[in-house]
Amino acid sequence: MHPYAKHSEKYKKNKNKNKTPVASWLDYDFFAEEQKPIKCLTVILRTVGCRWRKCTPCGYWHESADVTQENILTQLEHSLRNSPEEDFILKFFTSGSFLDEREISSDTRKEIAEMVKKRKGIKKLIVETRPEFVSEDKVTDLKNVEHLEVAIGLETANDLIRSNYINKGFSFDDYRTASELVNEYGATVKTYLLLKPPFLSEKRALEDVIKSAELVAPYSSTISLNLCNVQKYTRLEELWKRKYYRPPWLWSAVEAIKEIKKRDENVVVMSDPVGAGYRRGPHNCGKCDFRVKEAIKKFNVTQNLSVLEIEGIDCECREVWHALLKFDAFLFGGDNLFLR
Ligand code: SF4
Ligand SMILES: [Zn+2]
Repeated sequence: MHPYAKHSEKYKKNKNKNKTPVASWLDYDFFAEEQKPIKCLTVILRTVGCRWRKCTPCGYWHESADVTQENILTQLEHSLRNSPEEDFILKFFTSGSFLDEREISSDTRKEIAEMVKKRKGIKKLIVETRPEFVSEDKVTDLKNVEHLEVAIGLETANDLIRSNYINKGFSFDDYRTASELVNEYGATVKTYLLLKPPFLSEKRALEDVIKSAELVAPYSSTISLNLCNVQKYTRLEELWKRKYYRPPWLWSAVEAIKEIKKRDENVVVMSDPVGAGYRRGPHNCGKCDFRVKEAIKKFNVTQNLSVLEIEGIDCECREVWHALLKFDAFLFGGDNLFLR
């Protein structure tokens, strides 16, 4: 039996779980429209889960269950009980696609939009989806919302890396078409990029994320860097257990954020350093991880690059990271001065 099967059973047996979201929490986020940090309520709705389920690093569908549309509305009511008094951003994640009819039906989407509209203080609604589910109708379902942002997990602008190493199952063109449609309907796009997919060296991964950011910037109001972490029961975990994969250095995240923001100061750059400082998550040497993680979190809500200045967060392990980039071609292929 696949390890996931056990978990799915557990969820199915516990009927009450279907009425509560996977998780919800309050935090701060940068509100681009007013250029200031505001509270943010993140809700992970439990749905039937992602239809694709084939991405190498993803174990999110592990949270899926046999829920009904009614259950989803109950989950929503449940999570809104935690909403703050003041203005806030509401983020709905489904461990899949909010615009997939199989996960959230059109009627449910419209009801959610109504609920959000009635609820004072919600300045912005963010939902996630794969690009193939973006359509005029579905964006229109949510048109009542004051500000809608559609988040798409492109991971990289490079089709070869996305299809062969991440197994994402859609192209850059699919992403572009969906993003253009979202923008056309007056909503904004948040693009997720993955720092360090499997089979890329640290330097190549860093170059890829910076190049990708440049290519997605025309369609995105926010670029969110996902620092790859090793989730349970994934193909990435199999590689990691065999020592064929190391999550990115936090120094790479710092470098990527700086470079992306310097190239386009209008784009909001975010990075939630999930699992930072753990073996399965993005990490440095163990001694400096906490302060680098905190600096990244501070950057998220201020968008001020000075919080990432090396003088304030430096550590001797940065030399090791630096050498890794410097000798990349020598270690992993490319130019080698000693060979013909
Ligand atoms: S990363 Fe997204 S699209 Fe890929 S399997 Fe996971 S939930 Fe589905
Ligand atoms: Zn260190």
